[in-house]
Amino acid sequence: MSENKGVLIVGELLEGKLASITGELLGIGRKLADSLGQNLSAVLIGSGVGDLANEAVALGADKVYVIDNPMFKDYLTDAYVGALEKLVKETNPEIVLLGQTATGRDLGPRLGFRLGTGVTLDCVALAIDPETKLMQKTKPVYGGNALAMYVGEDRPQMATIRVKSMEPLPKDASRKGEVKAFDPALDASKVRGKMVNRVKEEVAGIKLEDAAVVICGGRGMGGPDPFKTVLADLAKMLNGAVGATRPPCDSGWVPTINQIGLTGKIVAPTLYIGIALSGSSQHLAGMTGSKNIVAINKDGEANIFGVSHFGVVGDYKKVLPAFVAKCKELVAK
Ligand SMILES: Cc1cc2nc3c(=O)[nH]c(=O)nc-3n(C[C@H](O)[C@H](O)[C@H](O)COP(=O)(O)OP(=O)(O)OC[C@H]3O[C@@H](n4cnc5c(N)ncnc54)[C@H](O)[C@@H]3O)c2cc1C
Repeated sequence: MSENKGVLIVGELLEGKLASITGELLGIGRKLADSLGQNLSAVLIGSGVGDLANEAVALGADKVYVIDNPMFKDYLTDAYVGALEKLVKETNPEIVLLGQTATGRDLGPRLGFRLGTGVTLDCVALAIDPETKLMQKTKPVYGGNALAMYVGEDRPQMATIRVKSMEPLPKDASRKGEVKAFDPALDASKVRGKMVNRVKEEVAGIKLEDAAVVICGGRGMGGPDPFKTVLADLAKMLNGAVGATRPPCDSGWVPTINQIGLTGKIVAPTLYIGIALSGSSQHLAGMTGSKNIVAINKDGEANIFGVSHFGVVGDYKKVLPAFVAKCKELVAK
């Protein structure tokens, strides 16, 4: 077998577009490939992939493999793992990266098993050791209380990356790259899974994970009403979305899809405002990538102040009205 070479990212598509994780994978993949002095490839699997391959080139890929067949219209584990296994065995990359998404979590370990290699899941930082040239994979452990770095010598070296933990590169339409159709020649009769039903989750307003401003409430909000009134109003005014810690979700005050943290969503907005929440390690695991963190808590010793850039010690019922009034004044200017 020829020597392993290059970085391959497994892109994801969403409603006919590149999913944001694809840009994030290309961004970190580009850095790793440059550190190794090797090429960056992407694979896009779907039906009617169209111009998306050129978009992947504009986001950093040197080469894009397109696996385009009606068989791949819906995500089916058997079909996707089978196709990726063939591509990886044929192209022999040194590194394979996937997203820590529902798809990546399903595919990564299965693909790793078939390739006889290990997969480090949920990485938040990746780098190349300048001496050994091995990939250093950093991920949170112990519920987000510590970071651990893993290095392995098996090939390909595989990892999934946490959504929003890496920056995509700015799109450069002038970048040149090669687009290559790849036919994994799968036997359709061997694909055992089938799509039975697809249920679309309707989200009013901006999606939490895409919002540039996140207003997050904790148990200290005291009940469901403030989420629907004061937090929703503030989010609307700042063009943001409302999030929550786990207790408000567990209590049924807000839907579970609003939960931020270890077992919820990962957010990395420009502005995160955490109100009446203590800042448990499980919550911090989902929001410390935020660029500007503001905390409002009546307890000056609350853990959230340890990670916040700005903090207000006080009862949110007193602090928020003044805060909202000032925001209204500034937004109106
Ligand atoms: C395996 C596991 C996974 C978990 N996953 C998650 C997760 O994904 N996300 C998550 O958030 N949690 C998660 N948790 C729960 C986590 O451990 C904490 O229990 C939770 O984050 C606490 O939420 P909180 O900060 O809202 O509540 P609390 O810790 O009870 O804090 C409430 C805060 O509100 C303040 N407060 C009260 N009233 C007011 C007021 N009027 N004005 C201002 N401040 C006020 C208090 O001073 C206090 O600091 C997980 C736990 C486990 C074991």
